[in-house]
Amino acid sequence: MTIKILPPQLANQIAAGEVVERPASVVKELTENSLDAGATRIEIEIEKGGAKRISIRDNGCGIAKDELSMALARHATSKIASLDDLEAIMSLGFRGEALASISSVSRLTLTSRPESQEGAWQAYAQGREMDVSLKPAAHPCGTTLEVLDLFYNTPARRKFLRTEKTEFTHIDEVIRRIALVRFDVEFSLSHNGKRIRHYRAASEQKQQERRLAAICGSAFLEHALHLEWQHDALGLTGWVADPRAAGQFSELQYCYVNGRMMRDKLINHAIRQAYQDKLGADQQPAYVLYLTIDPHQVDVNVHPAKHEVRFHQSRLVHDFIYQGVLSALQSATEHLPEMTEA
Ligand code: ADP
Ligand code: MG
Repeated sequence: MTIKILPPQLANQIAAGEVVERPASVVKELTENSLDAGATRIEIEIEKGGAKRISIRDNGCGIAKDELSMALARHATSKIASLDDLEAIMSLGFRGEALASISSVSRLTLTSRPESQEGAWQAYAQGREMDVSLKPAAHPCGTTLEVLDLFYNTPARRKFLRTEKTEFTHIDEVIRRIALVRFDVEFSLSHNGKRIRHYRAASEQKQQERRLAAICGSAFLEHALHLEWQHDALGLTGWVADPRAAGQFSELQYCYVNGRMMRDKLINHAIRQAYQDKLGADQQPAYVLYLTIDPHQVDVNVHPAKHEVRFHQSRLVHDFIYQGVLSALQSATEHLPEMTEA
């Protein structure tokens, strides 16, 4: 047996196995890149559930011509430079793998223009060595990533794609989640040439509530208890549903840690515990919650898709969330005799 270094494309395809599960994962990675680039407007165009085409255009900082090939290289990132940076992450990306991975399993082009540069340039990587070619292009300030024929060269993955409708539903969900945490950014999502969602930038509370209702439904907004809880460097804001209205909304559980969407067992448990006794056996808590925590106190480098975290002081975080949610629930129900404690 001889040991060989894998050609870059194959190494990237293996990495893609971890982060690029389906079109929605591509949309998540690319939209997060746009947010990290400071975009205030992001346009997402999808064709055939994303299997044919995914295009994400932003008005962010752009990438200079001489950095375009780096952007497509594996382990290349502008977001961290040291272990210290990794231990205090505020950006959504930091692995430097998304573009390399996606371009190894699709036909990807990257077109960009930073404000300081005359014109725009377009880059794409090809072949086993993933050599990058560059050519001039027409593009306003900002960046467009276009991903064609996802998984065309990895048939095993392509086979797992579901119907157009199912794949688009997953993409829609990704954008809902992101739109719920970035009220300051305008998002537009279209499928097969038709605009399906348009979330305008919302700075005032009324506009934010409108977006909340558009995403979570007006029933949620109507029964949502606003929450603001603070303890030292820990902060919890957002909305929890009045338990008396539980059952009116299904599967509304959105939780963010420092602006990153999470599915975290510890957080779920704390929220559940706060709702305990207030819900029927088959009822679920509904919430949209934003936790802010000192980035040194949380490890986001747990899973390649970055939807898991580890808290250094998990007990403290658990109790903080429990107390915060409980206080919001109690303030809503304390005037109800059957809810008050003896
Ligand atoms: P990561 O996000 O982990 O840094 P990516 O592979 O997703 O890795 O992106 C590589 C690099 O390309 C980023 O660090 C960033 O510098 C640049 N980049 C990617 N997308 C954009 C974008 N939309 N606007 C500006 N720069 C971008
Ligand atoms: Mg990224």
